[in-house]
Amino acid sequence: CLMEYNLCDYNTVNRLLSAHGFTFSKALGQNFLIDDSVCPAMAEALCADDNTGVLEIGPGIGVLTKELCKTAGRVVSIELDKRLYPVLEKTLEDYNNFQLVQGDAMKLDLAALIDERFNDCGCVKVCANLPYYITSPIIMRLLESKLKIDEIIVMVQREAAERLCAQIGSRDAGAVTVAVNYYAQAEVLFNVGRESFMPSPKVDSAVIKIKLRTHPEYEVKNEEKLFALVKAAFSQRRKTLVNSLSNTGGASKSSVIEALNKLGLSTTIRA
Ligand code: SAM
Repeated sequence: CLMEYNLCDYNTVNRLLSAHGFTFSKALGQNFLIDDSVCPAMAEALCADDNTGVLEIGPGIGVLTKELCKTAGRVVSIELDKRLYPVLEKTLEDYNNFQLVQGDAMKLDLAALIDERFNDCGCVKVCANLPYYITSPIIMRLLESKLKIDEIIVMVQREAAERLCAQIGSRDAGAVTVAVNYYAQAEVLFNVGRESFMPSPKVDSAVIKIKLRTHPEYEVKNEEKLFALVKAAFSQRRKTLVNSLSNTGGASKSSVIEALNKLGLSTTIRA
């Protein structure tokens, strides 16, 4: 019965996990939420309804999943750790709109999965407390795969949140900021302290919202080339663009200077 499992209660979670012989894996980024205000706030920010399909990455024991199931039409959660499958079967047994996908979110064909599982949903959104070791790769995978999704609301480390949501041109911006900004608009929704997790990590977190653009903000002929250029520009961010692009970007100094002149930009600017 659902009432048995308060997934934000430390003792309940401890009992549940030890009954399944589960121990936390640092390598899989397993820090489970035990703050009873965070998951409802994430679900509320997602504004899901009966017509919304939600893709979750890493349900853990289902604390966020449960909140998502209360409002969304369907919740499909990808979990890599097979030790959690019997736990999820128990904690989510009362929700018939929940589906578990066993596998690695970095390897599964997400476009096919979305087509297959959400074909009758009006819109699809992603919501997750992301495993920290794959925060940027998974966000970039979601964006670059051009999936049929509208919005991503995820918990990430606070530093990652600052970088992902930074203003272009600001000190916090990096290559990933430019990439995210190309596909979407990102903003920090709220901060979450390290004490909200079990076990408690060494860093604080934040929930961010990434709203996908229907069209990129500017037209790009060759996206691969653009991102290679951005990566090279930020790989030595303290150097001038002329130096970083000629050192790692495979361009000659004179061609970078010529391009900057054409754009009316100073030849001493940095990425
Ligand atoms: N959603 C739960 C919560 O908020 O308490 C758990 C979040 S925990 C930070 C990350 C979860 O992602 C863990 O359950 C972990 O096993 C799972 N995970 C790690 N790597 C994964 C991957 N590559 N694909 C799918 N799930 C993964």
